[in-house]
Amino acid sequence: MTSERIYLSTTIPYVNARAHLGHALELVQADVLARYHRQAGDQVRSQTGTDDNSLKNVLAAEAEGIPVAALVDRNASAFAALAQPLSLSFDDFIRTGSDPRHRPGVERLWRACAASGDLYRKQYEGLYCVGCEQFYRATELPGGLCPEHGTRPEPVAEENWFFRLSRYGGQLHDLISSGRLRIEPVARRNEVLGFIAGGLEDFSASRSTARARGWGIPVPGDPGQVIYVWWDALGNYITAPGYGTGAGDYGRWWTGADRRIHLVGKGVLRFHAVYWPAILLSAGEPLPTDILVHDYLTIGGSKISKSGAVPGSQTADPAELAERYGTDAVRWWLLREVPRVGDADFTAARLVARANEDLANGLGNLVSRVVTLVHRYRQGRVPRPDESPATAGGRALAAACARAPERVAEALAAFDFRAATAAVWDVVDEANRYVERTEPWLLARAERDDDRAAARLLDESLALLVGACSELAIRLAPFLPDLAERIRAAVDESAGRLPTAEPVFPRLEAAAVGAVA
Ligand SMILES: [Zn+2]
Repeated sequence: MTSERIYLSTTIPYVNARAHLGHALELVQADVLARYHRQAGDQVRSQTGTDDNSLKNVLAAEAEGIPVAALVDRNASAFAALAQPLSLSFDDFIRTGSDPRHRPGVERLWRACAASGDLYRKQYEGLYCVGCEQFYRATELPGGLCPEHGTRPEPVAEENWFFRLSRYGGQLHDLISSGRLRIEPVARRNEVLGFIAGGLEDFSASRSTARARGWGIPVPGDPGQVIYVWWDALGNYITAPGYGTGAGDYGRWWTGADRRIHLVGKGVLRFHAVYWPAILLSAGEPLPTDILVHDYLTIGGSKISKSGAVPGSQTADPAELAERYGTDAVRWWLLREVPRVGDADFTAARLVARANEDLANGLGNLVSRVVTLVHRYRQGRVPRPDESPATAGGRALAAACARAPERVAEALAAFDFRAATAAVWDVVDEANRYVERTEPWLLARAERDDDRAAARLLDESLALLVGACSELAIRLAPFLPDLAERIRAAVDESAGRLPTAEPVFPRLEAAAVGAVA
């Protein structure tokens, strides 16, 4: 395979509240893809950030009685700081409120669409949900309530700038149905196509400065209006690589990238798959190539509230969860348990059970056992048999190792993290089966009685098992970089012998579960 240039982005959450596990899901998914493609030799730029210019931030600051900039600074810093507890490897973090790259880019994007004749002023009346920062038609509001927030949108009447979305329905339909703009999973693609088929209406692309409380980016040439926060926020994908500032990175990472991949939650699909591509078409810029859509998490059966708080004593703060259970356990739950389609319910007990079963029992025991066997029977030196595996079990393990890379590649290409982790796990299961069937300790006993065939089989089994652990360290690195590194070190032969066996993943204590249950 040839090397590709890939630009990966997460959405940028508004920072009216602290990060919760739903944010962590998208960040970790993007991180896996970034690490995976870097490992495969691709050129990768991965980006996240925060949406500072939302009216919700203004309202949250008013509620706390602090300046908006102070609230945004505090919460944006907390989002950026998730890199450490979640072992995230993003290359860039953009804050739309303070990053000097952002405003010139948003202004340029506005002017480009104006030059295409796609922005015009119009008196408007509609029902506005501040939570969504979006106007709704009455028919879109079951019981008169916002489907995302369950709140009653407020009637708003004002003169705004409108964007001619209606012009782009045909082009968007062609791009999406042909797969040139790929939306995964397919049900989400069909949802977008259905929305487009229903007819696209122009949307309001600005707000009165008064209603926005003066927060946001003024419309170029019209200081009485600020640019609609979604327009502003979506722009981050091109302003960070330098669309507005003329930095060379824009040509490299947007127009020049082979793939421009957005990871998004289902609730913001319309903005990313309809509004954003239409804005780019209008501005004459390339579109994203892939939009990968994830569903939502619930915590202990409840929706995560806007404040990130959860009923009961469960915590949904990813930094706190990582502190308590470790980065590997949190990432593993998000990747191994959350299905590609459908919401997933988090409880700390499930996280602990999954980590203990897979990482401590399945994988951790395997690695400790293999290293211990090599020390006990070969003084820590990994045998180098020159023949290929003589037993069916040996061949099955070698085949599982050989099969894993392609299966992981296929699963990640389909945006299926569960299938990808399952593909890695087949190696763990096969290796554990192999130990049970081969019983190296019996081979060692026969070897002491001068059984040459047993000695050769013992060499073969130890070599295969160390090889499987090394393979696991490589395959797991995009998913669990920290644990993968400990496994790599555990089977590191560079000193001539393996290091003494140490647990790579100690069992999580039941007491830790009790603390949050
Ligand atoms: Zn809403």
